Amino acid sequence: MITSLLIANRGEIACRIIRTARKLGVRTVAVHSDADAKALHVRMADEAVHIGPSPARESYLVGERIIAAAKETGAEAIHPGYGFLSENADFAQAVLDAGLVWVGPKPDSIRAMGLKDAAKTLMADAGVPVTPGYLGEDQSPERLKAEADAIGYPVLIKAVAGGGGKGMRRVDEAAAFMDALESCKREAASSFGNDIVLLEKYILSPRHIEVQVFGDAHGNVVHLFERDCSLQRRHQKVIEEAPAPGMDEATREAVCGAAVRAAQAVNYEGAGTIEFIADASEGLRADRIWFMEMNTRLQVEHPVTEEITGQDLVEWQLRVASGEPLPKRQDELSINGWAIEARLYAEDPAKGFLPSVGKLDYLYLPQRPHHADVRIETGVEEGDEISPFYDPMIAKLVVHSRDRMTALDDLADACAGVACHPVRTNAWFLARLCDAEEFRDGRVTTGFIGKHADDLTAHPKPSDDLLQEVAEHFISALWSDESGYHHRTLRFDRGLSGFRLNRAPSFKVTVQWNGQAVPIEFDMGLYDRGTEWEPSTGSIKDTDEITVFEDGAYFDFALASRGKVGAALSDGALIAPMPGKVTSVDVSAGEQVTKGQRLLTLEAMKMEHGLVAPFDGVVAELNVEAGAQVQVEAVLARVEAAEK
Ligand code: ADP
Repeated sequence: MITSLLIANRGEIACRIIRTARKLGVRTVAVHSDADAKALHVRMADEAVHIGPSPARESYLVGERIIAAAKETGAEAIHPGYGFLSENADFAQAVLDAGLVWVGPKPDSIRAMGLKDAAKTLMADAGVPVTPGYLGEDQSPERLKAEADAIGYPVLIKAVAGGGGKGMRRVDEAAAFMDALESCKREAASSFGNDIVLLEKYILSPRHIEVQVFGDAHGNVVHLFERDCSLQRRHQKVIEEAPAPGMDEATREAVCGAAVRAAQAVNYEGAGTIEFIADASEGLRADRIWFMEMNTRLQVEHPVTEEITGQDLVEWQLRVASGEPLPKRQDELSINGWAIEARLYAEDPAKGFLPSVGKLDYLYLPQRPHHADVRIETGVEEGDEISPFYDPMIAKLVVHSRDRMTALDDLADACAGVACHPVRTNAWFLARLCDAEEFRDGRVTTGFIGKHADDLTAHPKPSDDLLQEVAEHFISALWSDESGYHHRTLRFDRGLSGFRLNRAPSFKVTVQWNGQAVPIEFDMGLYDRGTEWEPSTGSIKDTDEITVFEDGAYFDFALASRGKVGAALSDGALIAPMPGKVTSVDVSAGEQVTKGQRLLTLEAMKMEHGLVAPFDGVVAELNVEAGAQVQVEAVLARVEAAEK
């Protein structure tokens, strides 16, 4: 087993790898850019090396700097994580040339799968079904057009060097083909420096099914079953699960068997994923699932496979890289229960998924004891920063349950339980997805989010119950204000029922939310719960402002208006902020009082509230006696400052 490991990555995956390395007694070395100098992966590792400025191009993508860092720290091996240099065959080769262990497949395997056309040809030769289409060398527009006509529309034009959903064009009719081809080639040339394209039948009702495979240096290859990643936004995965809904045993065997053949065809070592596209118009059928591409690295969504198989895939990677055989044989692997992962991002779905960068002043990720079964994979903690330089992922939330429905419920709960401020997250969007009927029925295709975008991304609104709690907060905050000086005041507009003894009265409390004045009809009958309340998932409180979290979203409320009450208070007036009964008067007019001294007691909302002197001075005005009923905003007393 290797004894030391440099992790050429950042964020959650770097932390994830460090955790397993530590479990195995492997010393860890982190690398970091300027922006990540204090990042969690740096704090977790045994050692850390600064490799350059914040932009990834100048740090995490600079192979020589990373290899030099491994040399300097005596690290024996390099784990690339995912993204960055993980699928760069030249970097893998350079690592090997430097005499280091590369935790990944051989550079040749990466190269063989690097271009989509070559990979498809290789797969077809290995007996793996590939999406019907044209892979030809003749790239003349006329020939491509003729092939597209023969395939039948819609067709998909794909740049062979494309990735991340870029360099793809769907063409729905022959007349649109030439323009689409031209623009696809232009994009491919500028993004990938290679304008060669292939054509594919565009699969309607497509589902994304992928199979986790693993190979070792001794010629063994196994699969760890499939994942379904059909819930995508612009070809980016949002929620992933394992196993795939509706996958029967025979179909599973066919697909996983094809995946193993695919890995064998490139003498695969380490963790890899074979991605398939399925035409799910009539459910999952073995003859309608085709090879799309191979990812020659550990995937973001590997935890769902770990959960259903009970394996640690990073441990497998480190063992295989150390020359050990695979920890399990195929017949020792089986599926247990259902696992689903959601990618929690710092972005605002209501604003076109605009990244929301900045400091995580407040961050609560679901955890024990409220959410016992959630696994969190994260690279940040409260107080850390989501930087504009990298992928704004905050965490992955992974649940593992006995069946799919329970897992979906657990994940919905977990997403709804996320509380983050002031950075915006997609937690509420994820929670909505978990509750979406079509998803629960296992019927989603890759177009689901696009089709339902309006409903799924509509701005969250606070519930009526939440508004009641907010009103209650302002009312009790007012009363418990330590200074006793009601310089921060609520504006109470009496509700229609007013204050009557024989029925629960109601008030209108006007608060500010999202730049609007929101009147809340506050039902005093609900006040029984007492002053100390907590919204279900927490809050950040201040007398003037409150942030509350609900269903994965947050809402900032502020008092709407200080109005005349505020003005009156500035001269030391004690105002009744709500109707009530004066139960005692502890001072007399003209008396010297000190700051904080209790002057009156008011009973309102079934509780007694002491009104205290806002500063040292004399009681200049005393307008009530014990037993008096007072109305809201009544000036009960006035203190004049001592200096005057
Ligand atoms: P990339 O390398 O850019 O990620 P892929 O070939 O993996 O490109 O495809 C990305 C996504 O595009 C898939 O997950 C799927 O949603 C969609 N897609 C790819 N090929 C087809 C096809 N032939 N028909 C319909 N959708 C497709």
